[in-house]
Amino acid sequence: MVGRDGPSDSVCPSIVSYGESVDKHRHVVIAGAGPAGLASAITLARAGLSVEVRELRGEVGGHFRGNLQLLTNYPDVRDARIELCSLLGSVPVSLWPQRSAQLFGPSGKCVSGRSSEPFGYLLQRGPGPTALDGALKRAAEEAGVQFRFRTRARPEEVDIVATGGAAAQGVAREWFGRTGLPDGFHAVFDNRICPGGFGYLLVAEGYTVVGAAVVGHQDRALEAFHRTVSFFRGRAGVPRIEHPTLSGSLDLFLPDPLLTSTFPLYVGEAGGFADHLFGFGIRLALQSGVLAAQCVLSGRGFGPAWEEHFGQRFKTGLANRFLYETGGHLAYRWFLAKASRSDFREVGQTLYKPGAAKRALATIARTVWKGQPDCVHGSRCVWCRMPKG
Ligand SMILES: Cc1cc2nc3c(=O)[nH]c(=O)nc-3n(C[C@H](O)[C@H](O)[C@H](O)COP(=O)(O)OP(=O)(O)OC[C@H]3O[C@@H](n4cnc5c(N)ncnc54)[C@H](O)[C@@H]3O)c2cc1C
Repeated sequence: MVGRDGPSDSVCPSIVSYGESVDKHRHVVIAGAGPAGLASAITLARAGLSVEVRELRGEVGGHFRGNLQLLTNYPDVRDARIELCSLLGSVPVSLWPQRSAQLFGPSGKCVSGRSSEPFGYLLQRGPGPTALDGALKRAAEEAGVQFRFRTRARPEEVDIVATGGAAAQGVAREWFGRTGLPDGFHAVFDNRICPGGFGYLLVAEGYTVVGAAVVGHQDRALEAFHRTVSFFRGRAGVPRIEHPTLSGSLDLFLPDPLLTSTFPLYVGEAGGFADHLFGFGIRLALQSGVLAAQCVLSGRGFGPAWEEHFGQRFKTGLANRFLYETGGHLAYRWFLAKASRSDFREVGQTLYKPGAAKRALATIARTVWKGQPDCVHGSRCVWCRMPKG
């Protein structure tokens, strides 16, 4: 049964139980070939169903073309690499484990966050053979999934919607390329550089990403990008970069159990499955994709299933984001002090520990951050606030 191990454990494709109700001749159509859609497709096709994925673009991975991203290894106890291996089977994906992070605070002071187990794995996105989306596509093809590229799917035509974010309340601008910089994971937390967000520099075997994420200040994303580049030029030797090469949205809202209980099922970022604190969404995209597929197979409602698995996490994530925004530089300093004193992966896990205080803060956040009238996310939106000037 799905969910036996409680909310802190992850979704594993091997624990699916195929309910009496599953019709093996059923044809399932999925919109979107990102991590969420591909995870659903693989799980359903391996169970013997006929699966078709419709993708807007000419390849898997959306607008990502080799960019490095962090597959988080918290708050779940189960290791992300093992979880990914069980989904991919023998198909390889390059993972660079991260056990050390250079974190810069508002005063420019740098602390090191270290962990005995990786706090995350850097990987490449996009269609490349060892990139996440390329590896998922190969696993899907091996399982018999059919792809229709350059096809715009509408929700009413499909069983599972995995089309990514739709209405940005945060924006990330980044540059991706090859440099001679040493491997490393760097982040800067300073509202004068990236308001409401953070700047980052990720390097693995010369693949380099430098970027800025801002929340509630979308019109300032480009300035934030240039400030981040110049910050890391001084601190880590980042070369001169004229323009970002990618702009993407951080579309964060709480999934709605009512919406996700009826077909089509919304998974990944399209369903609100992303971390509210930093916008990390790959792992929840994979997990929600697998969980939705397991629900199709077992006949269980997707709404109650994700509530059981992820409900607490969304409450703590929202409380974390509220503390991050209202606490500002004070909160960033607290986070860095904690990171320098404790195991960094454990800091990530502790941040998501549920409790009465986090539940109360989540309720306050939802009251204070009411969705705007033209919000497209429905009643559970906590994110559609007017951009600050
Ligand atoms: C710059 C940037 C950096 C990020 N860094 C990280 C990170 O380090 N770690 C992390 O965990 N997360 C990160 N994220 C978030 C992460 O990229 C997303 O959470 C994740 O990609 C969500 O996966 P998904 O499958 O739900 O959607 P997506 O990956 O967005 O895939 C959706 C797919 O659906 C397709 N599509 C859209 N509309 C249609 C349609 N109508 N019909 C058919 N197909 C359609 C798209 O072309 C795309 O291929 C980052 C996001 C950005 C923008």
